[in-house]
Amino acid sequence: MGEVFLDGVVKRFGRVTAVNGVTLRIRDGEFFVLLGPSGCGKTTTLRLIAGLEFPDEGRIYIDGEDVTYKDPKDRNVAMVFQNYALYPHMTVFDNIAFPLYMRRRELGLTKEEIRKRVVEVARLLRIDDLLNRKPGQLSGGQQQRVALARALVRRPRVWLMDEPLSNLDALLRLAMRAELKKLQKDLGITTVYVTHDQAEAMSMADRIAVMNEGRVVQVGSPEDVYLEPRHVFVATFIGAPPMNLIECKIVEGVGPNPALECPGFTRPLPGDAARVVEARGIKSVYLGVRPEFIAISKAETPGSIPGIVYVVEPLGSEHVVNVNIGEDTILKVKVLGLREKLRPGDKVYLNIDWSKVKIFDKATGEVLA
Ligand code: ATP
Repeated sequence: MGEVFLDGVVKRFGRVTAVNGVTLRIRDGEFFVLLGPSGCGKTTTLRLIAGLEFPDEGRIYIDGEDVTYKDPKDRNVAMVFQNYALYPHMTVFDNIAFPLYMRRRELGLTKEEIRKRVVEVARLLRIDDLLNRKPGQLSGGQQQRVALARALVRRPRVWLMDEPLSNLDALLRLAMRAELKKLQKDLGITTVYVTHDQAEAMSMADRIAVMNEGRVVQVGSPEDVYLEPRHVFVATFIGAPPMNLIECKIVEGVGPNPALECPGFTRPLPGDAARVVEARGIKSVYLGVRPEFIAISKAETPGSIPGIVYVVEPLGSEHVVNVNIGEDTILKVKVLGLREKLRPGDKVYLNIDWSKVKIFDKATGEVLA
């Protein structure tokens, strides 16, 4: 078991409120990612769960037990932090085995069982050929994997990880993501994982909490936060390239509903958004559409939006075409291969998949529909 519950947690450092009223229920066995930009409070949240910091307000529970002011050693969690410290005088093997040696009696493990576990996890992290070395004889990325192995060798209630793959090169990082996810699923140990890398979060998480300025903006599955962002912040933080945001004015429509006046086109507001807009007196919105939900063509069709190609970015299997619409609005359009060669200056027509569009209040950033 390893359910983690943060209830209205606040943490201040002097005048800085690092964590500002965070409530999260992390399910048993879940791979849960805290995602957000630098300084948003991810690490502090993790340190609060670990017991390395105590909150100013709120409570923290693990499996229903109030651990708010308990010492790290009494929480049965294993941590791996960005600034890992290895024991310099010990070999890699002993560094990894250390937490098991410390609690050998309590865990009821024989020396052979410890050895097996250490070798197993070292193999998984591809450091099994380094077991006899000392940390000083390792690269930064190898040291980071030793620190990760030292956390993974334990079977605690919760694994807490702060950017544990940040020092690895791109290829190894991809491989380690997959290994870590597989191990976590095999063992079913609840994991709270901190990263600022949205691709990493999307690829590993069961659920993601997107954080900004000490608060949780949205919690959901990777699909949820990608397809149903509840705030402009989530729409633009997740996705590469991020969601297009088109600034539009609310104007009188032809029928009973108001209309959207956008750069290069006008469009009636859907009923549910129209009701919110009228109730709150909203005057301007962002129309949000992901780059893959816009089709591009050289032929005009009814309702298509005219534009001029600004630049084409080839990304291997796909292209991102930047298209100028209106006076100075650029939309990014993602296409798999290009049937027709597009060049800057070409006249094109865009068709937005309106079923996938999000409308955000420009003033608050919150989604309307
Ligand atoms: P990063 O991705 O850069 O590590 P983060 O999202 O993990 O960022 P935190 O490290 O949790 O952010 O920091 C949140 C805020 O709290 C920041 O403004 C930071 O400067 C501040 N902060 C964190 N620890 C302390 C501390 N010990 N003393 C003072 N301020 C702190």
